[in-house]
Amino acid sequence: MSLHRLLIAVVIGPELARWKAAGHVPAFWWRDDDARRPTPALDRLLSLSVRFAAPITVAAVPDGDIAALAKACRVIPGAELAIHGFRHENRAPPGLPFGEVYDLDRLADVMSDLSGATEVFRRAGVTPRLFVPPWNNAHPTLKRALDLQGLSLSCYGQMRSAAEPNRLDAHLDVMRWKPAARFRGAARFLLRARRLLAERRTTGAWDQPLGLLTHHLDHDEAAWRFLEAFLPIARPVARTSLDGPATVSLRDKIILKTG
Ligand SMILES: [Zn+2]
Repeated sequence: MSLHRLLIAVVIGPELARWKAAGHVPAFWWRDDDARRPTPALDRLLSLSVRFAAPITVAAVPDGDIAALAKACRVIPGAELAIHGFRHENRAPPGLPFGEVYDLDRLADVMSDLSGATEVFRRAGVTPRLFVPPWNNAHPTLKRALDLQGLSLSCYGQMRSAAEPNRLDAHLDVMRWKPAARFRGAARFLLRARRLLAERRTTGAWDQPLGLLTHHLDHDEAAWRFLEAFLPIARPVARTSLDGPATVSLRDKIILKTG
């Protein structure tokens, strides 16, 4: 048994056993960020998805042609492409948290950026359903634009709530980012997983999804090896199978208002 498998068994094994005894299975899903084009790291990511029958949501930056990326994902069972920002460029004034949209941006301009991003996906033969803001920065103006264009939102860290039915976050990042990108470490990752699992169990929130977050371009060898051990335990399901209430599109809203 590898060290990672042993740690998984020791740290979250008992918690998973409690879920099983209660007749529940945690709903893990898997999001990966920052793709633009096929690379050896993307091949490695997608081959893990196939090997463990783990559907993956690949959040891609639409600042170029994503046709080759879309082609690579199309042959992967259950794979979905999501929009990861407009250009993945920080536009926040100095001292404020990184983000692409900030207070002075007008809704019309953000809508236009969003349409441009959606168009890049359409040209690659993909109809995107989900938007992942870079740096986890879901500015209210961005949220409003997503809502108007009928796109769901995925950030990091929150439970799904009735207040934001079209939001599904990731919760378990395999990486740490400061001072430099590297594997979070099996113990740190698993202790967080155990805490989030226990939180769901003790509050009866059995169907609250748990999102695994990866960044294939930044993984070191330890992160890859941990994923190989964790994916067969987590057995992620497709994001689309976790969809909350049907997304109401702008068109539907107009019909609702006028009808
Ligand atoms: Zn990113």
